[in-house]
Amino acid sequence: MALCGAALRLNLCVDSRYFYKFSSRVGVRRLSENTSSRPGSGSGAETAGDHVLYTQEHFALRESLRKIIDQEINPHVDQWEAEGKFPAHKIFKILGSAGFLGVNKPVEYGGMGLDFSYSVAVAEELGNIHCGGIPMAIGVQTDMTTPALARFGSAELKKEFLLPSITGDIVACLGVSEVGAGSDVSSIKTNAVRKGDEYVINGGKMWTTNGTQADWMCLLANTSDGPPHKNKSLICLPMNLPGVHIARKIEKLGMWSSDTAEVFFDDVRVPCKNIIGEEGMGFTYQMLQFQEERLWAVANILTMMDNVIQDTIKYTKQRKIFKQPVLHNQVVHFRLAELQTEVELLRSLLHCATALYIKGNDVTKLASMAKLKGGRLARELGDSCLQFWGGMGFTSEVMVSRFYRDSRLMSIGGGADEVMLGIICKYMDTLPRK
Ligand SMILES: Cc1cc2nc3c(=O)[nH]c(=O)nc-3n(C[C@H](O)[C@H](O)[C@H](O)COP(=O)(O)OP(=O)(O)OC[C@H]3O[C@@H](n4cnc5c(N)ncnc54)[C@H](O)[C@@H]3O)c2cc1C
Repeated sequence: MALCGAALRLNLCVDSRYFYKFSSRVGVRRLSENTSSRPGSGSGAETAGDHVLYTQEHFALRESLRKIIDQEINPHVDQWEAEGKFPAHKIFKILGSAGFLGVNKPVEYGGMGLDFSYSVAVAEELGNIHCGGIPMAIGVQTDMTTPALARFGSAELKKEFLLPSITGDIVACLGVSEVGAGSDVSSIKTNAVRKGDEYVINGGKMWTTNGTQADWMCLLANTSDGPPHKNKSLICLPMNLPGVHIARKIEKLGMWSSDTAEVFFDDVRVPCKNIIGEEGMGFTYQMLQFQEERLWAVANILTMMDNVIQDTIKYTKQRKIFKQPVLHNQVVHFRLAELQTEVELLRSLLHCATALYIKGNDVTKLASMAKLKGGRLARELGDSCLQFWGGMGFTSEVMVSRFYRDSRLMSIGGGADEVMLGIICKYMDTLPRK
């Protein structure tokens, strides 16, 4: 029955798919240009026949999503970037109605019931959105706030929070990081103290993506005084409860169209039944949830990196200096070839980790490696490509500069590079014992 439902939803996607018309564009692609997203032109394997992970269905799903990106999102990105916010409820409803907010979620809660590789395919396609902020906000909804709920939440909780998040009727946010606890998640100070059949929550969360628009938060809070890895719980927290205060919207270097909030909790009372899974298991659930978040983030940035390379090739091909195209300098085309090679290596790692993950393996080490490499490569690639654009690259009129700003977050958010290195070292058994 579940598979049948999934196939039905997928058929809808295939039927409504549109075929990308390639129109060659030469010259500077300004942010205001309303152009179609391109297929991931940097990837060697673009069809199901020769792809290690994706089938015809993955590609059909991506084509269908690309249509929505081109018609409903990209034409408005510049405006939303300037406004510092995008209309999450409107865009999530469009994506949810088409099934894109729950491809790997259970059919009984509105999902497609497919495996995580489909979520990775969606994340890769979302990389064709002309900024980093909107895909990140979508990823928060699909792969950062809902994996633990889908896996460990009660049926009642899933009906109340998961189902409408998948259909796009409500917006979710993730409340893990705090002012004094980002990399060290175990040291969070927000407390949820049980009083009768309610938790009373006090504390605050920092850097909350979707925070000013969200209807509910997947909140990590201390529910006892026990050891830091066993005293935490994940709680579904409606954001309209008395005592939830959106303190401010944070101004940022990049990801402008994504709203980031600081949130305070002042004696917020939430029913104990809103806990996800078992009390005291929140830290473990969150660490598991981080695996999908990190793989999702890598998939998303891969397409952006492909697109920045392609844009740079087009620009440097037509920009003549000393009577020849910039691209004809060996230092330029060799550098772009080297960067594309690195992107392909990262894609292979992502697809390998995803294939192992959907078979039930622990991919913490591979996911951490991919996240680390993704952050470092994005910084390197953004810097190198921007250089080849000269002064144009320094303007805020071209995609390469937006990527340069937005992608800087990859080495910080969802676990900084150094946190990833720590996890990898743990798996290599090279961390000094305390
Ligand atoms: C735009 C944006 C959106 C975000 N969205 C969310 C969200 O929706 N929900 C949420 O919960 N969080 C969110 N975050 C928070 C993000 O996950 C944290 O910023 C991140 O985990 C780092 O925590 P921190 O900022 O407190 O840095 P800190 O923990 O203060 O770390 C500072 C630096 O210390 C270094 N460092 C850390 N650990 C080590 C180590 N072991 N060894 C050596 N050096 C180390 C790293 O260089 C690190 O960057 C977001 C952040 C941003 C900027």
